Amino acid sequence: MEELLDTDLGSVRVFLKRDDNKARKLRYNLGHPRVLTFGGAYSGHIRAVAAAGLRHGFATIGVIRGEERLPLNPSLAYAASCGMTLTYLDRETYRRKNTPEVEAALRERWGDVLILPEGGSNAAAVRGCAELPPEIDAEFAAECEAGTGGAYDVVCCPVGTGGTLAGIAAGLPAGRRALGFAVLKGAGFLVDEVARLQREAYGRVWDNWSIDLDHHFGGYARTTPELRAFAARHGVEEVYVAKMLLGIVSRARGGGFAPGARVVAVVTGEPFPPR
Ligand SMILES: *Cc1c(COP(=O)(O)O)cnc(C)c1O
Repeated sequence: MEELLDTDLGSVRVFLKRDDNKARKLRYNLGHPRVLTFGGAYSGHIRAVAAAGLRHGFATIGVIRGEERLPLNPSLAYAASCGMTLTYLDRETYRRKNTPEVEAALRERWGDVLILPEGGSNAAAVRGCAELPPEIDAEFAAECEAGTGGAYDVVCCPVGTGGTLAGIAAGLPAGRRALGFAVLKGAGFLVDEVARLQREAYGRVWDNWSIDLDHHFGGYARTTPELRAFAARHGVEEVYVAKMLLGIVSRARGGGFAPGARVVAVVTGEPFPPR
């Protein structure tokens, strides 16, 4: 695991674990011959479902928020190139996508489909993400322990819909904590959502996690000059990863971690367009 080097970290050490969490969330959702899901025009979840459909040989339907725009942007062009059928819902209908009426209309039109929620967070996704901490443990022990004299204390991840955090927290060994950084503004509802996802997946809620709501930088897909500069300096994307890392740096500076704490930051997603 590479270490994040930043002058403002003090005695806190931050290790970067790269993980394609969108693919991980799909692992236990596979098996149905037709999968329908939702997303915005730049959704990483849409790309992940399209890629999984191509790789595993199932049909995929992407229901995209807003009007169709041609030519397709690179993200949707990639999804289409994987064989995904793209369809569009106006913003008002899209907001009601989880209601029985809209769902019935989609099933009427698209037939027998497995419907995955926007962002892919459901119980199966949580169980998939719970497999990440054991991988981190093994990697940390193999690569980092010699230099730090022990295990990590905290795992951090960005939070969009909460499935990744819910799973990581569920999969953590005793004594460690998970800290999520919300990328949306006013995202207090995510606390209930992560608890709901854990309950749905395991019938219980863990108390080893929390969510930082203060590093959204203006809201989803918003940015600031500071965030943009930080993302460029460290070569990470701005919508999720840079917010978390800058949040970690600011908490380290403000005494938000114990002195000498070892933090593993999950660098989520996969580079798009592929590097
Ligand atoms: C979707 C996504 C997340 C957030 O995961 P959730 O499970 O929705 O909270 C974080 N990082 C990246 C790069 C993502 O694409």
